Amino acid sequence: MKKKVLVVGGVAGGASAAARLRRLSEDLDIILFEKGPDISFANCGLPYFIGDVITNREVLLLMTPAKMKARFDIDVRVNSCVVGVDSKKKVVEVETTDGKKYEESYDFLVLAPGAKPVVPSIPGIDSKRIFTLRNVVDMDRIKNKATENGVKKAAVIGGGFVGVESAENLAHLGVEVSLIEATDAILAPYDKEMSDFLEVELKRNNVKVNVGSKVVKFEESENGIKLFYENGSVEEVEMVVLAIGVTPDTAFLKDSGLELGTKGHVLVNDSLRTSDESVYAVGDAILVKNFVTEKEGYIPLAGPANRQARIVANNIMGRDEKYIGSLGTSILKVFDMAGAATGLNEKNLIALGREYKKVYLTPNDHANYYPGATPVTMKILYDAKTEEILGGQVVGAKGVDKIIDVLATVMKFKGTMDDLAELELAYAPPFNSPKSPLNMAGFVAENLRDGMVEQIFVEKLKEYDKDKNVILDVREKFELVAGHFENDINIPLSELRKRVNELPKDKEIWVYCAIGLRGYIAYRFLTQEGYKVKNIAGGYKLKPKK
Ligand code: FAD
Repeated sequence: MKKKVLVVGGVAGGASAAARLRRLSEDLDIILFEKGPDISFANCGLPYFIGDVITNREVLLLMTPAKMKARFDIDVRVNSCVVGVDSKKKVVEVETTDGKKYEESYDFLVLAPGAKPVVPSIPGIDSKRIFTLRNVVDMDRIKNKATENGVKKAAVIGGGFVGVESAENLAHLGVEVSLIEATDAILAPYDKEMSDFLEVELKRNNVKVNVGSKVVKFEESENGIKLFYENGSVEEVEMVVLAIGVTPDTAFLKDSGLELGTKGHVLVNDSLRTSDESVYAVGDAILVKNFVTEKEGYIPLAGPANRQARIVANNIMGRDEKYIGSLGTSILKVFDMAGAATGLNEKNLIALGREYKKVYLTPNDHANYYPGATPVTMKILYDAKTEEILGGQVVGAKGVDKIIDVLATVMKFKGTMDDLAELELAYAPPFNSPKSPLNMAGFVAENLRDGMVEQIFVEKLKEYDKDKNVILDVREKFELVAGHFENDINIPLSELRKRVNELPKDKEIWVYCAIGLRGYIAYRFLTQEGYKVKNIAGGYKLKPKK
C-alpha cells in the first residue's frame, strides 16, 4: 500500500516539500491542506503589487491546485484548515470554510503553517481601517482600500521588512505615509548607523519616519482613524498597515503531543524532525539553529523555508540530511537604495558578550572611472581572535546583493577576514574593481592586525578632550559643505605634508575624511612623522543622522 503524506500549509515550505516528495517518489499519496484560497503564492511580491510595481496579479500565483494535480498528482485542498493533530493516532482534523469537518490519517506529516502577523491587544485594534499583510487576500484588501476614493494618508506601524516595503509601495500610489517604529531605529537586523542610511532614503522620498514612537490606542473618526501616541500626540490617517512582526501560526498544535517552544514554535532536530518521528516541520513555524551561534533562534525567511522543505522530503524518503542552520541573510529595496544583512549584528554580539572587531568601508560598486559608479557602505563584524566573519551589513544603490551574497557564502564556509582578502572575483570596470569591496574589507582587517592603522569609532568622539585630542579633517575644502565633526580642524590631505607642523605632537590626533580611506593615508604619513594618531573608521559618512 502507498504511504500517505499530509502537508499542512500550501505556500513556501509546504508546496516545495510536496513537489519534491513527488519528484522523489510516485509511490506516495500526497495531500496538501491550505486554509486560504491560494497556494504557492509569492508572499515576497505582495507589497509590490500594492504599489503597482507588479501590475499583473496573476504572476503572484505561482501554482494553482489544478496545476499541482496535473503536474504532480498532489491532492490540494484549499479553504481547508487543519484544526488539530493527534500524533499518537496519526490523524489530523480538518475543517473546511463551508463548515465540514473530517479526519485524515497519515504515515508522515509535514508542518508548514508559517507565521501570522502579531496583533497587539490595544484599544481600537479591531477597526476595519487596520490591515495586516500576509497573503493575497490581505494584499487585495489593502490595495482596494488604498485606491478606493484615493486614500491620501496612511500609517504603517512597524519598521521591519514588511513595514518598510509596505510604506514604500503605499508611497508609490501617491499616499502620504507615516512609518512608525517603537525602537530607536528601523530594520532590527541592522545596527542603527547602517539602517539610518535607509531611513534617510525613506525620508528623501517623503515617507515620514517616526522612530521611538509607540501607538497606544486607535479610535475611528468620521473619515479615518486616529492614532494616539504614547507621548500624547495624535495623528489622523485613513488606513493603517500593522506590521510589527510575526508569530508561528501553530495554535492547532496545542494538543498534538508535539513539543513546542514557549512562544508556540515547533521544535525540531537537525533533521527537521519534531518530537514525533513521523512529523517534520519547516519554515516560519519552527526554531532553527543560528549558523553563527549554533543556538536556537527564529529566522523566518523564504530561502530557509524552501531549503528546509527539500531536506524534509529527502528525509521522509529515507535519506539522512541535516539542516546546518540559518545565517538570516536578507535584502530589501528602499526606493533607490538596497540594504542587506547576514549573520549577527553588533547589537547581537554585545548581547552575547562575544569579543569582536569591526570594519567599515565605503568603496564604489564598480571602477570609479566607469560611468555610474555609486558608493556602497559596508560594516563587517568578525571574531577578535580567530577573525572568523560573524556578520555583515551593506547599504547602497547598486552592488549590495552581490556583496552580501559573497559574504554569506564565505561565512557558510566559516571564512575569515583573510579569506576575503584572497577572494578572486570577476572584474571588468562596469562590474567591479580589481580590488573588490570584499577584498578591501579583508585588507582593512589585515592592516589593523599588522598595526598599519589604529581606528577609533564615531561613537567615541564624545570622549573628545581638547587638552588631549585634535580632530583632524583631511577632506578638501570643497567637500566641507557636507558638514563636519564638532571641534575639528581642516587640513586637506593635499596640503598635509606642507602644513604638518601646525599639528601638536603631544596630543592624539583623530583623523577623518569622507569615508576613511584618505584618513588612513594621513594616518600612515603622520605616524611616520612621529604623531600619535587614530583613524575615525568609516569617516564623516558615519556621523549619526538626526
Ligand atoms: P508561508 O509561506 O506563510 O505558508 C504557510 C501557509 O500555511 C499559509 O498560506 C497559511 O494560510 C497556511 N496555514 C497555516 N496554518 C494552517 C492550517 N492550520 N491548516 C492549513 N493551512 C494552514 N522572505 C524573504 O526571504 N524575502 C522577502 O523578500 C520576503 N518578503 C515578504 C513579504 C511579505 C509581505 C511577507 C508576508 C513575507 C515575506 N517574506 C520574505 C517571508 C517569507 O514569505 C516566509 O519566510 C516564507 O513564506 C515562510 O514559508 P512557510 O512555508 O513557513 O510559510
